[in-house]
Amino acid sequence: MSQVPAYKRILLKLSGEALMGDDSYGINRTTIEQIVGQIKEVVELGVEVGIVIGGGNIFRGVAPAAAGMDRATADYMGMMATVMNALALKDAMTKVGLIARVQSALTMQQIAEPYVRGKAMQYLEEGKVVIFAAGTGNPFFTTDTAAALRGMEMNVDIMLKATKVDGVYTDDPKKNPDAVRYQTLTFDEAISRNLKVMDATAFALCRDQNLNIKVFSIFKNGALRRVVLGEDEGTLVHC
Ligand code: UDP
Repeated sequence: MSQVPAYKRILLKLSGEALMGDDSYGINRTTIEQIVGQIKEVVELGVEVGIVIGGGNIFRGVAPAAAGMDRATADYMGMMATVMNALALKDAMTKVGLIARVQSALTMQQIAEPYVRGKAMQYLEEGKVVIFAAGTGNPFFTTDTAAALRGMEMNVDIMLKATKVDGVYTDDPKKNPDAVRYQTLTFDEAISRNLKVMDATAFALCRDQNLNIKVFSIFKNGALRRVVLGEDEGTLVHC
């Protein structure tokens, strides 16, 4: 099997829930170590890695915990949750010898660098992992949209959307044993079949800018490496 990566630069979107593992809240140590192990494998292949991390494992602007709150305030809390996850991810990466930098869309200079596009590009070229925290920096958006935005700004070759399910299926595979995974889909097919790949704003941005999306499970050992090597893993959504 070829060891030559199919992509030079990737943007990995990790939801906050991915860090939770089977817990109901927060960050699960074993899970974060498993994810970081997968990231290390692709960094060692020479792939440049940017990551947008969500915050849903800690706080979401639209969660019941935010009921009755001013939406923008709740969303700022959600963005701060992503910064916590980013710091945890960076810490876990450092422990396995990766060099990671956190850049935040909200200024928090004591704990993270501000987002500066040129600097982030430089880090990627140097082989450092860049973790983009605080989403877009704006309320009423999601980290999926931040991932589309940063992916385009970083000129990545592909957006990798890490989920619990190993791709996009014809139906919910947990409920329907006959559900089949799509190997590939066009953006238009995903829309006409009403298949949810990313949130609508993120999806529209990727489609408009021809940024292909690969949906895969980060919980399958070695899945990220197989995706990066261009093997049949997950679902490719393309133009
Ligand atoms: N958020 C926001 N603007 C952004 C990104 C995130 O306001 O650009 C807030 C929003 O409240 C969201 C929370 O941060 O609910 C966590 O992000 P998200 O829900 O995208 O995390 P994930 O589902 O990926 O864990």
